[in-house]
Amino acid sequence: MNRASVFNLPPAAHHALIEALGATRVHLEPDVLALYAADEGPRRCTPLAVAFPTRHEDVAALVQVANAFRIPLVARGGGSGNVGGALPVPGSIVVSFECMRRVLEFSPSERLVIVETGIPTAEIDALARTQGLFYPPDPGSAPYCRIGGNLAMNAAGPRAVKYGVTRDYVLGLRAVAGDGRALVTGARTTKGVVGYDLTRLLVGSEGTLALITEATLKLSPAPVMIGTLRACYESGAAACAAVTRVMSEPVIPSALEFLDPASIAAVQQAGAATDLPRGTRALLIVEADGDPDAVARALTQLRAALSGPGLLELREATAASEVKALWTARRSLSYAIKRIAPLKINEDVVVPVTKLADLVIAVETLADEYRLPIVSFGHAGNGNLHVNIMVHPEDRDEVTRAHTALARLFETVLALEGTISGEHGIGYEKRAFVPLEIPAETLASMRALKRVFDPNGILNPGKIFPEAS
Ligand SMILES: Cc1cc2nc3c(=O)[nH]c(=O)nc-3n(C[C@H](O)[C@H](O)[C@H](O)COP(=O)(O)OP(=O)(O)OC[C@H]3O[C@@H](n4cnc5c(N)ncnc54)[C@H](O)[C@@H]3O)c2cc1C
Repeated sequence: MNRASVFNLPPAAHHALIEALGATRVHLEPDVLALYAADEGPRRCTPLAVAFPTRHEDVAALVQVANAFRIPLVARGGGSGNVGGALPVPGSIVVSFECMRRVLEFSPSERLVIVETGIPTAEIDALARTQGLFYPPDPGSAPYCRIGGNLAMNAAGPRAVKYGVTRDYVLGLRAVAGDGRALVTGARTTKGVVGYDLTRLLVGSEGTLALITEATLKLSPAPVMIGTLRACYESGAAACAAVTRVMSEPVIPSALEFLDPASIAAVQQAGAATDLPRGTRALLIVEADGDPDAVARALTQLRAALSGPGLLELREATAASEVKALWTARRSLSYAIKRIAPLKINEDVVVPVTKLADLVIAVETLADEYRLPIVSFGHAGNGNLHVNIMVHPEDRDEVTRAHTALARLFETVLALEGTISGEHGIGYEKRAFVPLEIPAETLASMRALKRVFDPNGILNPGKIFPEAS
């Protein structure tokens, strides 16, 4: 059967969808379609329909209908992705997981929770904390992104420097492959080595191999307390040198965040973080967590490592209100940089921590060379820098310069032995750059895997892989 027209859902397909899910779970109204036409990326594409499955079996039925009519399916969690991962492709059906948000099992003694994948990430953490546990991955979007989106993108947040990323907390998955096969991966135990590790393959696969319906997630004991340090430096290079010193010590911070000179200027122009000492051009926010003795010891070690050339001020807080004050500069960044230009080309590159200073200098050089405001901040302990190129979309010359600068940024990152995405993924926006990082034969193997899981190419086509030449 031919692929469905990109303009209309064939009546037979509509009928089959209603048979599979029920009429109230399939929506074609233009105002509903418009709500699902974009994620946080810059593009829009109106889907043919939006489907709202309520359980695993609904998803399996949807995949069967999609295969029968060759209609692409685009999974959607909270739609908070930045790279067009959940952007509908022409002629597609959006599969919104928002009605699949049940906790299927919570076993504190096994330190695990089994959830449907439409549950907001923050709800998992909140549930775990009722029993003295927590769910460590903490993307900034946790209150509204869904665990399915986190699994598909392998999301992470500030705590990754100590606790790792989403993939480190996945014991097992239930999913439906693109060909309709039911997949059950992993085990509920923390040890388990039977068969290929399909759990790790599905995590980070951006909705292109399978629709993930349920996840068994590992939980950790919640730290009793957190201590916070804010270190202000006279230059980005001085702050980066401090990052290297911290990471060389036998102490693991639970967050190590960096703001570059352009970030400091942006928050100051926005009237936030007025308490920074004069001459501050970069800052680090560092946290240590654990029991009180461990935190005290860690803070002593961290203070020593943060002290060095270019340090202007080092402040410490453990009381909640003081901690909040130290994070003000970082938390006000999103708002502050929106004032620079309406469009943010938001990259999330990573380099080895020892090369962070080289990256920061390279970004400053690109900003000068291409006459662009570029604001960089991020998870320095992982070498993960959010490089935001700020652009006025109506200024064509500026847009062209931004895209040239972007390509140069990726080349620089790879020359520094880094990677072009640490957490946002590739989606639609970055796929043209994938061959810069992934060798041709490896990419061919990835395409072959895609065909095994999704022979008709119905799951999120046109994502991750560059267009075949
Ligand atoms: C303000 C803000 C802060 C952010 N902070 C962070 C951060 O700190 N760290 C970070 O990593 N990211 C961050 N992000 C990016 C984004 O929140 C993450 O990528 C998140 O994982 C996306 O989750 P979502 O539920 O919104 O997924 P969506 O955007 O809906 O989808 C993302 C991808 O997952 C796929 N997908 C969704 N559900 C499923 C499923 N059940 N099965 C298979 N595939 C599925 C989609 O097809 C798409 O490819 C931030 C975004 C914003 C707007």
